[in-house]
Amino acid sequence: MAAVIIDGEALAEKIKGEVRGRISRMQRPVRLAALLVGATAAGEIYASRQQQACARVGIEYACTSLPGDISREEMLRSIQQLNNDPQITGVMLHLPLPKHLDTTEMQYAIDPRKDVEGVNPANIGHVVYGHTLIAPCTAQAVIELIKSTGAPIRGAEAVVVGASQIAGKPIALLLTQLMATVTLCHIATRDLKEHTRRADILVVAVGKAGLISAEMIKPAAMVIDVGINRVTGTDGVKKTVGDVEFEAAREIAGFITPVPGGVGPMTVAMLMQNTLRSAELGEKNL
Ligand code: NAD
Repeated sequence: MAAVIIDGEALAEKIKGEVRGRISRMQRPVRLAALLVGATAAGEIYASRQQQACARVGIEYACTSLPGDISREEMLRSIQQLNNDPQITGVMLHLPLPKHLDTTEMQYAIDPRKDVEGVNPANIGHVVYGHTLIAPCTAQAVIELIKSTGAPIRGAEAVVVGASQIAGKPIALLLTQLMATVTLCHIATRDLKEHTRRADILVVAVGKAGLISAEMIKPAAMVIDVGINRVTGTDGVKKTVGDVEFEAAREIAGFITPVPGGVGPMTVAMLMQNTLRSAELGEKNL
């Protein structure tokens, strides 16, 4: 039987609806400040999409463009100003930053309570200790998609392929907290198929189209595809695909997320939810 397709768009709409309702009841405006360093056309398009997404849930969004040759000190000062501004409830940095800036140092400079992307090492640390303040958006998106199916997580064999800071590692940590038995695979994993074939829950976050074929999936497993790849189809048309061979995989999996329409829209919804959470944390400290 073909897999149930997990509809990330629909779940994202539901969550954004809840966020909108809670924001409308807040005492003060929810304001997200984004910094875009070294403006590029792609960065500006992304920022304008983000502004629209924020507007739909009632978040005021302001993106400041900074020059590409900004010094480390000036950059840190810009972040500090936003941290200290009581009108700003959330702060985020558009990536990538220019090479001369240390991304981790800049993320570390964001006030952890305003860190809507959950990228400050302090917030990752809270995830490790099991008292999450704000978790990275993509990792949360994956967990919400898994939970939405109602399938058991406790005791499940979960295999995460890809071990980046932003995706694989925090996904593995959150699944561990939910009492799954977690295997984290990466580029140096010797026999990937041996691991993926055991997974009741398989999460793939690598960025390689076609990495996971149908025979690497356990029958009836849940497959969450985080990958985003632009490829040219056999018809010569460019399209976006994940890391999993979707058409073949859906014949064997029990649940599967599509790309696009799975993790992507949920990551945006999680950013909105985190922005609300930051504002709520700020209100508690008023
Ligand atoms: P990354 O490049 O930082 O990390 C990739 C990881 O994959 C590394 O841990 C590496 O060891 C591992 N890897 C590489 N080749 C492998 C192989 N052959 N077998 C097993 N592991 C392998 O990437 P990232 O930032 O985590 O992003 C991964 C993918 O997820 C990309 O396609 C990215 O666009 C996508 N992504 C999607 C969202 C979303 O919202 N849907 C968010 C973040 C990232």
